[in-house]
Formats: sequence, structure tokens, C-alpha cells
Amino acid sequence: MAGTAQHAGMDFRCLRSGWIALRGVAHRLARAGVQGVLLAPALALLLSVSAVRADDSAPMRLRRDPQQILEAVARRMNVTLRADVALPRIYFESTTPLEQFQDAIAPQWHFRPPLFANAYVAERNEIYLMDDPAYYRRMRRTLDESLAHEFAHYLQVNYFAANLADETCENEAVAVQMAFRLAADDDAPGETSG
Ligand SMILES: [Zn+2]
Repeated sequence: MAGTAQHAGMDFRCLRSGWIALRGVAHRLARAGVQGVLLAPALALLLSVSAVRADDSAPMRLRRDPQQILEAVARRMNVTLRADVALPRIYFESTTPLEQFQDAIAPQWHFRPPLFANAYVAERNEIYLMDDPAYYRRMRRTLDESLAHEFAHYLQVNYFAANLADETCENEAVAVQMAFRLAADDDAPGETSG
């Protein structure tokens, strides 16, 4: 999946710039005459602090493979997935220009939203997902759950010829999302949702 690969690239860049910064610190400490014995624990401390920070603000990532999530949602909706129905492309907020999202969703929502949101764009067969960790902490939700919700809309449109303006579509997607969440909790009893 393109989005996942881009996230992996971003993590790598963070690690790399952190390492370059650490080398700079080591240089300055060495010039100031600090012994190597003292330097090692200092670097270890710096490294752990920067790792915590990077984790805190890094984009959310899917825990499961999108295909697995789609299959779980399809089972819930009694849909047999067909190879001739194109899969949607998935775009994450952290790697997608806001303007692209606005251009995609404006005809469907009949307005141009000022902010990114989770959405399935029927006309383009595209899913847009927020991956800001602060949003998921606030909503006590997982990114997998949000994708399950948008996959429900994808199935409604492509397998049931539904109109997303119909209110029952949203109710069903919310129900599917909740069922997915409960099933995911059962699969991973060690994980707490916060
Ligand atoms: Zn929805």
C-alpha cells in the first residue's frame, strides 16, 4: 500500500535526522573535553527522549492489512467480494494535500470543507483517512476502525448501488464500525483501547 510505504519512509527520515543531531551533540561534548565514558549514557538518554517524542506525533498507522479489514467488513455485511470490482485507493492526511481532498469531496458533499476528514468518495472510488494521533486519542478510536467505516460505504456503493446521501448508509456504517471494534478487541485481549 502506497500510504504505508510513505509512512515507513517518514519514520526513516525522523530516525536519520535524530542521529545527525546526536552526532552534532557528541562533537560539541567532545570538544568541551567530556570523557567518552560520560558521553555514552548521555547519548542513550537523548536517544530515548527523541524516540518518545517521535512516537507521540508520528502519524497513526494501520495495525492490520487493509485487505484483512475489508474482508472482515464484507463478512459483516454479507458481501462476497468480487475480483471485477475495483478496490478503492486509500489516502492518508499526513501524505495528501488538503486541496486534493477538497477537490475530491466537494461534488459529493456540495461544499468545500476547510479541513481534512474521513470519507469515501464514490465517484473516484477513493478513501480519505485522517491519521493525526491527537484525533484518535481524543476520539478513543483506532485508524483500523475508521477504515472499516469507510469500507462499509465502499461496499454500499459498489455492491448495493446505495446512495450515500441516504441516512441509512451512515447508520449502517457506524454499526459495522462498532462490530469491527468489538471483534478486534476480542482478537487482542491484551490491548486496551484507552
Ligand atoms: Zn460514514
